[in-house]
Amino acid sequence: MSTIEQFNKHVMPTYGRYDVVMESGEKRVATDENGKKFIDFGSGIGTNSLGFCDEKWVEAVCNQVKTIQHTSNYYYTKIQADFASKLCEMTGYSKMFFGNSGAEANECAIKLARKYSFDKYGKGRHTIITLVNSFHGRTLATLSATGQEVFHNYFFPFVEGFTNVVANDIDDLMAKLDDTVCAVMVEFVQGEGGVIPLEKAFVEKIFEECPKRDILVIADEVQTGAGRTGKFLASEHFGVKPDITTMAKGIAGGLPIGICLANEKCCDVLSPSTHGSTFGGNPICCAGGLAVLNQLSETGFMEDVAKKGDYLREKLLEIDEVEGVDGLGMMIGIRLKTKKAGELCKACLEEGLLALTAKDKLRLLPPLNISYEEIDAGIEILNQLMK
Ligand SMILES: *Cc1c(COP(=O)(O)O)cnc(C)c1O
Repeated sequence: MSTIEQFNKHVMPTYGRYDVVMESGEKRVATDENGKKFIDFGSGIGTNSLGFCDEKWVEAVCNQVKTIQHTSNYYYTKIQADFASKLCEMTGYSKMFFGNSGAEANECAIKLARKYSFDKYGKGRHTIITLVNSFHGRTLATLSATGQEVFHNYFFPFVEGFTNVVANDIDDLMAKLDDTVCAVMVEFVQGEGGVIPLEKAFVEKIFEECPKRDILVIADEVQTGAGRTGKFLASEHFGVKPDITTMAKGIAGGLPIGICLANEKCCDVLSPSTHGSTFGGNPICCAGGLAVLNQLSETGFMEDVAKKGDYLREKLLEIDEVEGVDGLGMMIGIRLKTKKAGELCKACLEEGLLALTAKDKLRLLPPLNISYEEIDAGIEILNQLMK
């Protein structure tokens, strides 16, 4: 039996997968079971931020495996403390919570916001405003938060208390900011929704109105965070400081971690036994995460990401088939003139390039440390396919 047959016989068919069995990876190149090589313009889904098996990351992870792989959250470990203090130092947040995925990071943010409001105002002030076309995860609460009707199927009843506002529609926002609202939750660049950045005026309005009413602002930076947009957090592009920021995807270089950061105002809301996670803060993931944070805070690293993002954009815009390029930094959505994104993505795979799609766009999330040679090689494949 082939790997694919064996897999499909025993694993639930929740993903539409390509017929490729990946076997290994080095730097920004993956190799499948037949030895075919692929340049990586997807980083998993923005997770392998330092490419495959980065040397320092491997060393940090292996050392941790050999030291202590896990202990319950009834005890402390130094690697968790080191990771948390480094992340708080890099972001300016006071405290963080450890989960294992983006959805869990957002679940924590949702619970935190509701308890913050309950503690101060009692029941009834629990609504969380999210944006139409957003994506916040696959658990019941985060699906309910997700502002796309296609996700609100099959699993009824959904979690109550979410209202959607049209992105960049200030009138819609103002109309829905009533006295049942405890938080507004946004992605600065809607990722799954099509790599669409929010407009500055809309973001500014949120940050002007919410503090007046003691409504918390939650930024879902699961995809945009950890350097993806050319800044450590996408909020830096907008010059704002959300009360809560969630992170996951790229922050541990391909290991599962989910983080909910909170500022001074709300960092002690989730008191003992109000929230938790058995695996949350796994030491191996923290070691991988710390290795990522250390590299991202090296002088010039973020500037390089921004420059490579500009370079990619410039090269892409030279291709005739490209209608436009959306996104920020190395979070890129390509609008196509005639081609279908799904078909193009599949053709890329056949030609040895890993890419992604987001709605009707081809989406690129290359590893942050990709080289210019690798970018050029990937662009050449895109060039050929879009002729
Ligand atoms: C991927 C993603 C999530 C969900 O993360 P998981 O790790 O799959 O649970 C949530 N929010 C955004 C913005 C994402 O891109």
